Amino acid sequence: MPVASQLRSSTNQSPTREFDAIVIGSGIGGLVAATQLAAKGAKVLVLERYLIPGGSAGYFERQGYRFDVGASMIFGFGTDGTTNLLTKALEAVNVSLETMPDFVQIHYHLPEGLELKVHRDYEKFLQELIAQFPQEGQGIRQFYDECWKVFNCLNVMELLSLEEVRYLRRVFFQHPLACLGLVKYLPQNAGDIARKYIRDPQLLKFIDMECYCWSVVPAERTPMINAGMVFSDRHYGGINYPKGGVGQIAQKLVEGLEKAGGQIRYQARVTEILIENGKAVGVQLADGNVYQAKRIISNATRWDTFEKLLPPEQMPASEKKWQQRYQKSPSFLSLHLGVEASVLPVGTECHHILLEDWENMEDAEGTIFVSIPTLLDPDLAPRGYHIVHTFTPSWMEDWQGLSVREYEQKKEDTTGRIIERLENIFPGLDAGLDYMEVGTPRTHRRFLGREDGTYGPIPRRKLRGLLGMPFNRTAIPGLYCVGDSTFPGQGLNAVAFSGFACAHRVAVDLGL
Ligand SMILES: Cc1cc2nc3c(=O)[nH]c(=O)nc-3n(C[C@H](O)[C@H](O)[C@H](O)COP(=O)(O)OP(=O)(O)OC[C@H]3O[C@@H](n4cnc5c(N)ncnc54)[C@H](O)[C@@H]3O)c2cc1C
Repeated sequence: MPVASQLRSSTNQSPTREFDAIVIGSGIGGLVAATQLAAKGAKVLVLERYLIPGGSAGYFERQGYRFDVGASMIFGFGTDGTTNLLTKALEAVNVSLETMPDFVQIHYHLPEGLELKVHRDYEKFLQELIAQFPQEGQGIRQFYDECWKVFNCLNVMELLSLEEVRYLRRVFFQHPLACLGLVKYLPQNAGDIARKYIRDPQLLKFIDMECYCWSVVPAERTPMINAGMVFSDRHYGGINYPKGGVGQIAQKLVEGLEKAGGQIRYQARVTEILIENGKAVGVQLADGNVYQAKRIISNATRWDTFEKLLPPEQMPASEKKWQQRYQKSPSFLSLHLGVEASVLPVGTECHHILLEDWENMEDAEGTIFVSIPTLLDPDLAPRGYHIVHTFTPSWMEDWQGLSVREYEQKKEDTTGRIIERLENIFPGLDAGLDYMEVGTPRTHRRFLGREDGTYGPIPRRKLRGLLGMPFNRTAIPGLYCVGDSTFPGQGLNAVAFSGFACAHRVAVDLGL
């Protein structure tokens, strides 16, 4: 009998219905919240609808390949400062992971022949960029140096709940200048800062791409706080890949959770958050089981939480307002490829971004993202082969209402176009294919449990930096959200931040 069903049936026989906190979902945000609470002594239950933990940071295995579902450019594994939140989250529950440094964050292949690598070494990166735009040398340095100011403010303080007044007071007294710095940048977007220093339209497009490739919006809609983190930490803690694949992060967090006394159940799909006298008190599962807890934490997206797990007609006004400000980003079309090693020339970097026309940057099938994790951990593929995970934005509506034949045909056509474009940077890719699996927005929705398979929330229009992003408490007493639809947004290190903040707030509310 699989472990998951053993757990489920033992629950049926002797249900433990009283927990301090129930976490719906075992994405990295949910697991960091759960492990933090368990480490503080709370009785925690994580309920995960799928077979394994991790959500968008999960994995799957086929014919000797271990593919990352999504994330593979990992921030937060540094050793110093306070922003290395994945390292800190694992340490808190006495587990650790071996990681491999990636010395080039991205190799860009951009319009008008703009070829550029973002080196871990800050000066080397600046020199390479300045060599492309010599007339903008000073502006380039001023822009990226200003990003460091944001990062340096963040990287001295313990990152916890901004909804907790005593913490805010303490941090302010410990680091008054850093706090004032952050308050200044909180309502700002990276594009405004870039335009203060840079004039060249092509360089500004490059800054747009620097933002778009993780925020999925151009610089003018990308909060400066997030840009400061990403554009500096890649040179500070660096990008590091976990040995054994990204799925190891969640596996290790679960190991730590259980060591700390927490529990996790798989194939446990929550269908309803139970409300009593206006307060969240428990959850109901698809199999009919009911669990109760003093606090409920949802790691599902806000759309899933407030439209599916709660009656949409009773959506709190604050959530309606949030939906007016933020919309679902597109999902992705993902190609998980196994290729002969001879396809990749010596010196190929792990992460690539390909775009041929700036006009198409934000379009479906515009920007192509590539990740080759086997360059860092060869054990993820059979000997003599590499994994090429490539993905491009794709909207759910383009994949709906199709017959099975039409759906398969569309997959084949789209895959053909992507591979043809990739041939420009990896000649011989098509001929060297050994394995291919294609995921559409429908696949992302089905396996990740995310409405429309969305990558996460993006501002509908230019907003005041990160000011509009909600923290962990919700309008419903006892109900909290964690993960990428809470402050500070998408990315593993960002959702880890949200996990620390959520656990901190819940622990204070529980009196722990
Ligand atoms: C293709 C792709 C590439 C990416 N690349 C990167 C990258 O290189 N670097 C990076 O840092 N980030 C990257 N990201 C983003 C990053 O993966 C996500 O921002 C992050 O993993 C989201 O974490 P989360 O905690 O919000 O939740 P999720 O990962 O969405 O996990 C939520 C979990 O909750 C479960 N769940 C949902 N509803 C229920 C329910 N009703 N009952 C029980 N369980 C439920 C789901 O099954 C899932 O396991 C990428 C994402 C994608 C899709």
